[in-house]
Amino acid sequence: MTKPRVAFFDFACCEGCQLQVANMGETLLDVLQAIDVVEFREVMSEKSDDYDVAIVEGSITTPHAVERIKEIRRKASVLIAYGSCATIGGVNGMKNNFNLDDIRGSVYGEQARYFETIPTRAIHQVVLVDYFVNGCPVYIPEFVKVLKSALSGIPYRVPDHAVCVECKLNENECMYDKGITCLGPVTKAGCNSWCVNNGNICYGCRGMVTNPAVDGQKDILEKHKIPLAWVENKMNMYNKACEPDREARLNVEKR
Ligand code: SF4
Ligand code: SF4
Ligand code: SF4
Repeated sequence: MTKPRVAFFDFACCEGCQLQVANMGETLLDVLQAIDVVEFREVMSEKSDDYDVAIVEGSITTPHAVERIKEIRRKASVLIAYGSCATIGGVNGMKNNFNLDDIRGSVYGEQARYFETIPTRAIHQVVLVDYFVNGCPVYIPEFVKVLKSALSGIPYRVPDHAVCVECKLNENECMYDKGITCLGPVTKAGCNSWCVNNGNICYGCRGMVTNPAVDGQKDILEKHKIPLAWVENKMNMYNKACEPDREARLNVEKR
């Protein structure tokens, strides 16, 4: 039986999510039994224009990237946005806080005119996305689940409840009780509260839940005398690019 041909592509990103795949260990061997990887720049030199599934890491930040992702979309039957940079703009979205010419000048100096740039966009803000694997980096058990869904042609819905639910099930002590802000109450679950389990806070890398419990969050902040601005500042780290079109993104996910 012919295996589905799968290609990995990257745009503006740190490539950490691709590295997660390369480091999958034994699970990778199982995955490779089900697919033919025809392009994956981080681990092989072969390239191909013939693929069924495109797994796309990174945000769209240049006019050239817009054309390239459209071409990938045209060739792929299934497109998976892979990692926070791809699904919500991620850390690259912080660029959208600034004037583009100022940003370009501070990075490229006198050569700035040679480097075109556009506001950072997540993949679904440019082309249709079939599946989303959120997270910075992606959580491999979820990636495997999404890949299985994509190969079987069944939908995968990103969990839309708060990370706090998983955190409570994992019996972690709440960061707020230690006087530390955490974005778990407003962030989509699905990572098994990965960071908090390891002594860190949730930085909101999976994007905001559809209906964040805003009043509950404010009550927590008041109770612990933590300024709202601290939380807003943390939200800026991953969620800036998708702030204006959260509704559009949700509509795509509901298809
Ligand atoms: S989502 Fe995070 S780990 Fe993945 S490519 Fe972007 S910055 Fe790197
Ligand atoms: S606020 Fe953070 S630490 Fe507290 S329960 Fe939620 S995810 Fe866990
Ligand atoms: S705990 Fe928060 S920051 Fe960490 S992986 Fe999960 S959603 Fe991302």
